[in-house]
This record gives sequence, structure tokens and C-alpha cells, in this order.
Amino acid sequence: MGRFDNILGTIGNTPVVRINRLAPEGVNLFVKVEAFNPLGSIKDRLALGVVEAAEQAGQLRPGQTVIEATSGNTGIGLAMVCAQKGYPLVVTMAEQFSVERRKLMRFLGAKVVLTPAAGRAFAMVTKAAELARAHGWFMTRQFENEANADIHSRTTAREILADFRGERLDYWVTGYGTGGTLKGVSRVLAAERPDTRIVVCEPEDAPLLGSGVEQDRHPDGSAVTAHPAFKPHPMQGWTPDFIPKLTADAVAMGAIDRIVTVSGADAMRYAGELARKEGIFVGITAGATFAGALRVAMDAPPGSNILCMLPDTGERYLTTPLFADVPAEMTEEEQEISRSTPSAQFASV
Ligand code: PMP
Repeated sequence: MGRFDNILGTIGNTPVVRINRLAPEGVNLFVKVEAFNPLGSIKDRLALGVVEAAEQAGQLRPGQTVIEATSGNTGIGLAMVCAQKGYPLVVTMAEQFSVERRKLMRFLGAKVVLTPAAGRAFAMVTKAAELARAHGWFMTRQFENEANADIHSRTTAREILADFRGERLDYWVTGYGTGGTLKGVSRVLAAERPDTRIVVCEPEDAPLLGSGVEQDRHPDGSAVTAHPAFKPHPMQGWTPDFIPKLTADAVAMGAIDRIVTVSGADAMRYAGELARKEGIFVGITAGATFAGALRVAMDAPPGSNILCMLPDTGERYLTTPLFADVPAEMTEEEQEISRSTPSAQFASV
């Protein structure tokens, strides 16, 4: 880290951190902490990647409005990139994603158009495409855009190779939202580190890949209908109600060695455990990916090196079930600590 011409130069180059107390004995478990990106998630990479690819291809004119459908992190990343580069941004987002996401995007100058929860991810994508057509806006199409996978091949994958140079990397563990991370990193690993096994996690309630049911698709790669194996799950940013084209590409490449399903309860539990036992403060999909990595660690041969992606910061979930059990007022125990010395007590304490 040093001096940068603008904030966009600080995207990527996130740290890999060893897990100490939560790792089973005999294996080396590492996490790549994407919360270190300037706007706190792995999607900052994609935001820069899709906008710069569109600029280079002449698809995005100076001052043209950018539009995207997003569960939040892409919109927040795009809001930063568009603010820095001077493009207006409109985001469509299903109303069930956390309120702090909307506020962050609006604070960064974006417009947020909500879509009804019942329509899920499918409706927000349809709405964004419709608005793009009606107004001549540039849609970044994160679920199909090759520039999404490309930025992960150029940055995320290179960083991983550099951090494990001269060492084994036995397993790489990820989830998928668009599949940009999955496709972009796994094709580089397949070519340059063929011994690394690629493990993909998905929600127990929405095992789209595990179901073996293929996604129907328009010629442009977008989904025709919602996938039958989808049920709502709490991992915001993972597994939408269709199999994105980029995810299907990774499956078709034969890149995936194992699929692990993770329950919503385990996702919450391990986000909390990472915070309290390792001091690593990350979101629900990070907890979910970590739960999957622990499953891998349990039956990995001794001495294995495992790398687990942690996609975003826990600060994005203050109004979600992740914080449901965290009180705002003093607990009994805290009141007792307060009463144990004379000063600064509340009358009611
Ligand atoms: N976790 C979170 C919190 C996300 O927002 C996303 C992206 N939607 C992902 C994981 C998955 O990343 P990708 O789109 O590269 O598959």
C-alpha cells in the first residue's frame, strides 16, 4: 500500500489470513478477506472490471447512465466506480436485501429502484433490462458479462497464485452469486495449479447445482425462468433463483471437484465464530463459505492447505438476522459490571 491516483487503485490485493483457533488440528486453513476492498466486498473488483471493459469497447459513453440488478454489493461497488468516473448509476434491487445496502448506494449518489420481494432476483434483473432498453442506459449484466470473470482471472486468481507460490494449495473454497469469482479463478487454477481441488458451496435450501437440473436460457445467456430447486435462503449475494451463465460455464469446464451445501444456521454461526474467535468481521456468505471450508478441512489429509473466500464485511448486516441476538441495551451481566463500582450508574440500574 502507498499513494494512489484515485480510490479505484486500492481495489484488490486483499490479504490471506491464517485461521488459528477455528481450524481443525493438522490442516492449514486460510481465508482471503475481501472486506479489505474500499467498499468492503469482492464486488468492488467486478464493478471496476465491467465499467473499464465497457469503456475500452466503446459501449459506455462519457456521462451515460449505468444500470445493474444487484443484491447490493455490486451496486455499492458500482456506485463507487461511477462516482469516481462521473457516470450516473441506477440500481434495481429486490426489497428483501438489507436496508443498509440501499442507504450506502444512495449515499454514494446512486438511485435505487426496489422490486417486490416475491419476484426475487429474477424480477430485479428483468426490471433492469427493461429500464436499460427504455432509456438507452448501459446495463453491466453482471450475471453474463465476461468482464466479470476476467477481472477475477487478472486479479483474484493472480493474488492467490502469488500467495501460495512454491507451496501446495490443496483446496480452494468459494460460493457463487454470479459465478464471476468461481469462473475467473477456477480457470486459472485449472491451468496453472491443476492439483488444487475446487470446492463450491451453495445453500442447503437452494442446491441449484446439486440438483442436476439445467437452467433454461435466452441466447444472451440470461435465464428464461426461475430454477425449480430454489427456495429463499439467508445468504444474501449467494445463489440467486437461477443458475447464472458464468456459473454454468464453470460447471461446463469441469472445474468443480466437489459441491458442499450449507445451512442458513451454519452460515450465521460461523460468521459469529470468525468474529469472536479469530477477530475476523465478515458477512453471512463468508460464514457460509467458511462452514463449507471446515467441512473440507474435516476430511482433508494432514498438512493440507485450504483457502476459503470471505466475500464481504459484517457491517453490511446490522439490520439482518445475523445481528438478531445482539442487544442494543445493557444485558444483566453488563448491568452487574456497571453496579460493581460506584461511578456513572443509571438510576434504574
Ligand atoms: N457473497 C456476497 C455477499 C456477494 O454479494 C456476492 C456477489 N453477489 C458473492 C458472495 C458471490 O460472488 P460472485 O458474484 O463472484 O459469484
